Amino acid sequence: MKFGGIQKNSLIDYPGKISCVLFLSGCNFKCPYCHNPELAKGCTNCLSWFRENNVYDFLKSHKPFLDGVVISGGEPTLHDKDLISICQRVKALGYPVKLDTNGSRPDVIQEIIRNKLVNYLAMDIKTDALHYSSLMKQGCDFSAILSSIQVIMESGLPYEFKTTCVKPLINRQVIENICVMIQGARLYALQQFQETGVLNPEFFQNKDRCYTNEEIRGLKSVADQWVGKCIVR
Ligand code: SF4
Repeated sequence: MKFGGIQKNSLIDYPGKISCVLFLSGCNFKCPYCHNPELAKGCTNCLSWFRENNVYDFLKSHKPFLDGVVISGGEPTLHDKDLISICQRVKALGYPVKLDTNGSRPDVIQEIIRNKLVNYLAMDIKTDALHYSSLMKQGCDFSAILSSIQVIMESGLPYEFKTTCVKPLINRQVIENICVMIQGARLYALQQFQETGVLNPEFFQNKDRCYTNEEIRGLKSVADQWVGKCIVR
């Protein structure tokens, strides 16, 4: 099973494009604020509509209405060989591909870049080095995150890094520490945390979770000094 879901069209997932988003099931992280808990845990009851050929039939028939395809998750790079085959088939249909990743598999990201199977890369930077391990499942390694940052920044492709700004995981010091890791990046997006439907609601019980717009602007002012462009979403 590869596909855990599909969003037939989106105006926000691929910058400047109307895109179809393909979600691959399973993740090696356990971010408490994850908004795709079923995908993150691994989809066991995916609808038959998502059978592979149906996805490609949909993409073929909707070519006049779509500008690109986003491959997201879960964590798509966990499906390495299948991911490559999906990218190849989507590219063969004439679509540019954007890959969303948590950066845990730099080898897979590198292979996709090397084979010219991706046009835009978006990597989540969850937190700083001190706090990453609490968000990763066993077998993940923080050094992989640093390698992915380097691979993406040296890819020559359009890319962005993004961070979901959720208390208590993110504060001004953490943003500064992240910015040291991605210093000089072309685009860094700070995302507001949405409270509904998260992977681990208990994590947030009795805690202050959301940043105000003014507080987010304060985080942005920290990042502005380190990256080419910082935006708030
Ligand atoms: S938000 Fe975290 S847990 Fe959810 S899919 Fe992304 S990396 Fe996995």
